[in-house]
Amino acid sequence: MGIPRFRNHPIIKEFNGLKRFFRSHETSVSRQRIRDFKKFTDMIGSTGDEVAFDLMGSVNFGQAKEHSDTDIVIYMKCDRGRIGDCDPENCSRLNLYKNLLINTLVYEYSSQTYPVQVVDCINLNQLDYDLKIRNTNSMTLVRFGFYRSICRGINRKLLREYENRLSADDDLCKSIEQSLADCFFGLIHSSQHSFSFQKYIERLQDDGFKVPDSMANKIKSYLNT
Ligand SMILES: [Zn+2]
Repeated sequence: MGIPRFRNHPIIKEFNGLKRFFRSHETSVSRQRIRDFKKFTDMIGSTGDEVAFDLMGSVNFGQAKEHSDTDIVIYMKCDRGRIGDCDPENCSRLNLYKNLLINTLVYEYSSQTYPVQVVDCINLNQLDYDLKIRNTNSMTLVRFGFYRSICRGINRKLLREYENRLSADDDLCKSIEQSLADCFFGLIHSSQHSFSFQKYIERLQDDGFKVPDSMANKIKSYLNT
């Protein structure tokens, strides 16, 4: 899974170690949300279109509760082969998926609605282009490598081709790797809701699990890095 080279990056390794600990106490709400998103990508797939997600935040940590937000990254091909970032101003397809997500996933599949936050959207046309021209300054490649190293993928078969192409290009990986840590700390400090370790610890303890001191210390030192 992901890009092997990035998996061994010290920060990524540490993050995934913490994630594994929380996931070993996964909530049923987390599992249900994963099913909701799978159902959604299958539905889009049946229309001949393709979309994939990376789930961040509480679902990634297996700690989602009924009213938790679901933080997602969307992967899709923009209209008519267009490259560049997709944002709601310039991209009809992103708006379409956002509306579909809210209407089907949140209202139809689930008896209880929950907020979905689109943290980022990666245009697969741009990713394809940057891989082709071996763009060592590509923020799209950095974001892709980053999300694929720490998140929970839905419809991963769509992403595998891009993962393989990046993995196979060692020089490109090396230049991307240098920006991973920056991306990481930027995200930790900017979107706190996605990295709420304290909240996850409290949830576990509410459910009667004691987080071992060694793990609590690890988290503390990690957040102060
Ligand atoms: Zn777009």
